[in-house]
Amino acid sequence: MVEIPSSQGLFVDGGFREAADGRTLKSLSPATEEVLCEVAHGGEEDVERAVRAARAAFPAWSELPGSRRAAYLFRIARLIQERSRELAVLETLDNGKPIRETRDVDLPLVAAHFFYYAGWADKLAHAGFGPNPRPLGVAAQVIPWNFPLLMLAWKVAPALAAGNTVVLKPAETTPLGALFFAEICQQAGLPAGVVNIVTGDGATGAALVAHPDVNKVAFTGSTAVGREIARTVAGTDKRLTLELGGKGANIVFDDAPLDQAVEGIVGGIWFNQGQVCCAGSRLLVQESIHDELMEALGARVATLRVGDPLDKNTDIGAINSPEQLARITELTEAGEAEGAHRWSPPCELPEKGWWFPPTVFTGVSQTHRIAREEIFGPVLSVLTFRTPDEAVAKANNTTYGLSAGIWTEKGSRILELAGRLRAGVVWANTFNKFDPTSPFGGYRESGYGREGGRHGLEAYLDVQG
Ligand code: NAD
Repeated sequence: MVEIPSSQGLFVDGGFREAADGRTLKSLSPATEEVLCEVAHGGEEDVERAVRAARAAFPAWSELPGSRRAAYLFRIARLIQERSRELAVLETLDNGKPIRETRDVDLPLVAAHFFYYAGWADKLAHAGFGPNPRPLGVAAQVIPWNFPLLMLAWKVAPALAAGNTVVLKPAETTPLGALFFAEICQQAGLPAGVVNIVTGDGATGAALVAHPDVNKVAFTGSTAVGREIARTVAGTDKRLTLELGGKGANIVFDDAPLDQAVEGIVGGIWFNQGQVCCAGSRLLVQESIHDELMEALGARVATLRVGDPLDKNTDIGAINSPEQLARITELTEAGEAEGAHRWSPPCELPEKGWWFPPTVFTGVSQTHRIAREEIFGPVLSVLTFRTPDEAVAKANNTTYGLSAGIWTEKGSRILELAGRLRAGVVWANTFNKFDPTSPFGGYRESGYGREGGRHGLEAYLDVQG
């Protein structure tokens, strides 16, 4: 079993320390409401110290030969693999997601991102970025709670590979994985100041983003906060990438392999309790197979096990916070009030903790709030279509543009429709598949810039022609 220290400090300039004003914030278990740990609540002075440390570390880090930076990243990747069981348990405790997911999906992907970007660190001059790609400097990275370690990996690995130094602010409800990662940085012998972790809340994030000595801001989170950050950064020379919300469409045609589509729908919306920016939260079903598909889906959903996230058999864990649970509850009540039909399988929810059953809304119209707004919970809104054109029109009828899925046996249809869907990622006969080699990011209100792949590196480089 992983040991959680009773309190954890900020990680600044290679060491752990308390917040300058001594404030702390509590990290709670979403499954039991117990206090897991008290962590330092960083304020402006702590942000100042962290940015100063990152600035001081930048010249030496950026001038290291790429092969030396690669060696550090490979070491970090291997340590993540070696300690992945501890990390998976910690992430499950902190976030509430099932251990099966943290163990089999999150942690392998976290390590894979460090391995992948380690491989780039000594090849930057030969990767089409011009003869002299230069790191930007100090990167301020603000991440959400739904994939705490994976979001860290998406941001920290390419930033370090490209020669930047980092100040990262994890979400207030899930700080523990990032602090454990700080220990891994120490264990890997990473020079002091190259990675700094400042735990805290939105105000801490705002102070970091506004700091004048930051050169690059990378944010993943809600569209509302993304807008605020874009306003802060406007008129400065800071580079900005934003990964924001989504309302993904999972489109199932009548020739799709039904069993496979059902699994894809389940993985698309119930993975991580639906708290996934690219979740397939809108199911678009061809009208002719609606009843058959709903019957098969209902039978499959009834087999999902909701409960203790540390139990290996659990499919659906706890909702991350009471605030998130309240938002899901409010939107599902709106769905009923607007006339959609609500269904959940019989399931007993634990008394303590924050839980929501897997829920399906049928008879949803495009004007309903549950078809337009991001619920960020285990709730599927089902709409129908008759023709491919109607499917595309409905899928694109959103202010977001992050993800979409197409289920059909016709390869030509996939190629044609993928080009017409306004989404940064389109999956074919699968959903929620991630890979460090592939760029990920949004169109429209889902944000701009890409993380992952070669594009993810470019976001941390000045390219010279
Ligand atoms: P959030 O925007 O409330 O918080 C995200 C992070 O920003 C947290 O660390 C928070 O402390 C910080 N923050 C809050 N206010 C800030 C401010 N004014 N300035 C700077 N930082 C601030 O989002 P959340 O509720 O934690 O996460 C859920 C949202 O994240 C969803 O909308 C989801 O779609 C989105 N998300 C997007 C992606 C993606 O890759 N596109 C991935 C995961 C989550």
